[in-house]
Amino acid sequence: MTDERKPMDMKAAFSLQGRRALVTGSARGIGKAIALAFAEYGATVAVHGVRAGDTLDRTLAEVRALSPRSAAVTGDLAEPGAASRIVAAAADAIGAPDILVINASVQLRRPWLEVTPDEALLQMQVNFHASLQLIQAAVPAMRQQGWGRIVTVGSVQEQRPHPDMIVYAASKSALENLMRNLAKQIGPDGITINNLCPGVFATDRNLEALANPTYAEQVRARIPVRDFAEPQDAAGAALLLCSAAGRYITGTTLCVDGGMSVA
Ligand code: NAP
Repeated sequence: MTDERKPMDMKAAFSLQGRRALVTGSARGIGKAIALAFAEYGATVAVHGVRAGDTLDRTLAEVRALSPRSAAVTGDLAEPGAASRIVAAAADAIGAPDILVINASVQLRRPWLEVTPDEALLQMQVNFHASLQLIQAAVPAMRQQGWGRIVTVGSVQEQRPHPDMIVYAASKSALENLMRNLAKQIGPDGITINNLCPGVFATDRNLEALANPTYAEQVRARIPVRDFAEPQDAAGAALLLCSAAGRYITGTTLCVDGGMSVA
């Protein structure tokens, strides 16, 4: 904390040298872009996927090219106890994480009258319950060193819920509430927590829907900057929130949505 109070050398303020970051769901998409940016700025990164495989291996190789001591961890956040096992595996591989980005999520498109209890529970388990458990597992080590950064990845759907993703949208709003509540409780320990809200990103989960040109144009028309985001568009915001540059930002939501939440 002390060195962060000197007048800012802005390059140093964004450096993550010596930091250890766990980014869930970082084999691909937004999580991968965040993992690569963190590695480029000096952090040792634990990349995470549901299970071992080529995608996770390739991402780890790219991350290691920037930050050689980085490692991969696996685990399905739908399973009881997975969150604490993932944090423990990251700690074994790279040391206890002092940066935690909760990026993995499950999103099921379904008209609300057709949502089954199992589908609802799965989304709440992965997007909300497991997020709380990840934070519970990671905070003690952050507390011990008096420094930590947590980013929950929310969604523009907290402001603009999609009719066919009613549970997903609610799970992200619950996570945002959790984030604000925790900001008050862990701030005195030198730990910040913020919510990064993507709008419409061109990632795997949207490929099928955006492949329909009519639908893609309708969506584009609702975005003030008139374009979809690329995964790396979220990386700068995550870097701000997780570096010394963001030490005075906590309990807030940062939208990376081309203005969609205010349109
Ligand atoms: P994505 O490309 O669909 O990737 C999802 C990631 O989550 C994958 O790495 C996946 O692991 C992991 N994951 C899925 N189910 C999991 C489970 N049960 N346990 C553990 N990990 C699991 O995602 P994205 O589009 O980059 O989205 C990243 C975050 O941004 C999510 O929280 C999403 O809700 C949020 N978001 C995205 C958009 C968008 O337009 N894309 C908009 C708003 C919010 P595997 O690779 O191993 O399958």
